Amino acid sequence: MCGIFGVAGKPDAARLVNLGLYSLQHRGQESAGIVAVGDGEAHGYRAMGLVGEHFDAERVAQLPGTTAIGHTRYSTAGSSTIENAQPALVNFKSGHIALAHNGNLTNATEIRERLEAYGSIFSSTMDSEVIVHRLARSMATKPEEQLAEALQGVEGAYSLLILINETLLAARDPNGWRPLVMGKLGDAVVFASETCALDIVGATLEREVLPGEIIAVDKEGVRSLQLPPAKELHRCVFEHVYFARPDSQVFGGSVDRARRNLGRRLAEEHPAPGADFVFAVPDSSNAAALGYAEASGLRLEHALIRNHYVGRTFIQPTQEGRDAKVRVKYNAVRDVLDGKSVVMVDDSIVRGTTTRGLVSLIRGAGAREVHMRVASPPITHPCWYGIDTPERDQLIAARMSVEEIGRHIGVDSLGYISREGMLGAVPGGPTGFCHACFSGEYPTRPPTILKKNRLGGS
Ligand code: AMP
Repeated sequence: MCGIFGVAGKPDAARLVNLGLYSLQHRGQESAGIVAVGDGEAHGYRAMGLVGEHFDAERVAQLPGTTAIGHTRYSTAGSSTIENAQPALVNFKSGHIALAHNGNLTNATEIRERLEAYGSIFSSTMDSEVIVHRLARSMATKPEEQLAEALQGVEGAYSLLILINETLLAARDPNGWRPLVMGKLGDAVVFASETCALDIVGATLEREVLPGEIIAVDKEGVRSLQLPPAKELHRCVFEHVYFARPDSQVFGGSVDRARRNLGRRLAEEHPAPGADFVFAVPDSSNAAALGYAEASGLRLEHALIRNHYVGRTFIQPTQEGRDAKVRVKYNAVRDVLDGKSVVMVDDSIVRGTTTRGLVSLIRGAGAREVHMRVASPPITHPCWYGIDTPERDQLIAARMSVEEIGRHIGVDSLGYISREGMLGAVPGGPTGFCHACFSGEYPTRPPTILKKNRLGGS
């Protein structure tokens, strides 16, 4: 998954992008990058790690220009290397192209092989590099037409921010898999994966970039072009469940509201009579636990403390990295838990590593009974569209029944929200959402090659 942010028409565009990327850090922590253009020149910097580790005032000052895009990344299928950090920046016959992508293209391997057969040389294992090549080959005159041509036959999930010289292009795949919004900051136009990144720069939300829409912004103004419409929307429901920040609007709806609704619905489907209180696995489950507490009448407690100097557990490409982080990331509050029967709410169980570790922490702090409630259904299938759940055999719910999972993680009871419950709880539901990771109902054919280190998404 990734975060993308862009600004057109501000003298200090890179500074604003830098701020925007801070708000999108939760979408990817492996690499960060900014490209800015102005006066016919493009300047870019990409680095492995967090935004704040690399972009200080001095670095940002080295990226002059009135238009800029930025990217935070964690690799979904490709390797975590600097070559794959974005935005990609290349020179071509008519100037510069820079590209930042959120999503996963499902037929990038085929397109790449065709391009390679005609002599194209690739510099990364990123799926989105095929779009850069196709843009460079386009004979169309307007940048938005070049992009429409480049996207023909490209399948899968993409929210894109692209610079072709001083034109900023924003695009979303026709199924609307990943979010992307447009905002205004005075006369400048701003694009961001989530609205929380508009807030940090003081921009106001104008609207979503529509599924299948390309928006071009340059000195001539703002133009919109619509790609042939898709039959159905496949917005990623997991954005509401886990990925996006609760202070954001995604797909036109409040993430906070979605999560509270999920928690309420979870309480209706899986009450825990007799429990003393409910608590969240912070921070991604806070709103769901609040909803659970409201609907169940149970008191909400802080029983688990998260160390804020440790990043998201799961956004670590290796198992060793993840295991170590669970241990340092959380601690339990003995005073609150000792002798109590408790309900622990989490947004999801993926591999089960975190949950198992947490349950043993909670019991170690004296909890008498632990009832686990999960604000999404069992994850049984990998995502092909940009969330990092690559192999089926790593997904605990693909291997075990709910009862077995409950025993494995060591809880007294385990309840997952139903698929209908989840889809009914998110704003804009129950239709128009992709739920392939919960149902195996993939709306596209499989990606040509699923292996790591071939073509990675963003
Ligand atoms: P696990 O140990 O794999 O079951 O991790 C589950 C935890 O990771 C949950 O508490 C979620 O909040 C979080 N999580 C779920 N999906 C993802 C994801 N795709 N990327 C990062 N973190 C995730």
